[in-house]
Amino acid sequence: MLDFNSRSALTDRINYLIDIATVSDNQDRKYLGASIVGHVCERHVQYHLMAARGQVSRKEFPKRILRIFDRGNLYEERARQWLKDAGFIFGRGSNQKGFTDFNDQFAGHVDGIITGWKHPDALCPVDLPALWEHKCLGAKSWKKLETDKLKNYSSTYYVQTQIYMHYLGLKRCHFMATNADTMDIYHEIIPYVPVDALDALGKVSRVIQSTDAGEMVPRCTQDKSYYICKWCDFSSSCWGAS
Ligand code: SF4
Repeated sequence: MLDFNSRSALTDRINYLIDIATVSDNQDRKYLGASIVGHVCERHVQYHLMAARGQVSRKEFPKRILRIFDRGNLYEERARQWLKDAGFIFGRGSNQKGFTDFNDQFAGHVDGIITGWKHPDALCPVDLPALWEHKCLGAKSWKKLETDKLKNYSSTYYVQTQIYMHYLGLKRCHFMATNADTMDIYHEIIPYVPVDALDALGKVSRVIQSTDAGEMVPRCTQDKSYYICKWCDFSSSCWGAS
């Protein structure tokens, strides 16, 4: 007989209820998101488009991982407020700004746009206006970002900022990352690099055209045990079909 008064039984029972109430907001996405395009594997990007079209299934993440994604949203809100308290002014509704392109098959929403500075007697440390993007990272990843800088740390995050700047006509991005373990904060200014943005849009175009034609774009590797594939949401669709 189960002992529902024991501490572990209580934890299991309540977590079960939390888990069944936790849903992913990623499953219903009907477009290819800007946050995907910089992935090192072009076929991975294509699978995301195919999932948006209902042609393949997305992997279901464990609920614990969905809570980690949710942590990113919570920290983003707090980080925006920290900046406001420090004197940065965000454009009204700027965290709802976004873009769509390629007949609405490609879209994205920014975390915010910093448009002003509250302190007339002090120089603003960031040239404005600036796109604002925030990530919440574990200590190991945060340290790597601090050492490598964004472009080397993550092509996905870097390309995401380039695409947003391209569509919103911004020349720079204030990229901010909070260390979820130590609460240290990292800041970097990412300049708009048109060739990088256009390169990413070329990838989007190739992926859409290939998918329309029923063709698969190349994989990033011929080795299914490659570490990138181990983390890929679509590894069973990709290698199972080969
Ligand atoms: S499993 Fe590997 S090769 Fe296939 S889409 Fe994913 S990352 Fe690319």
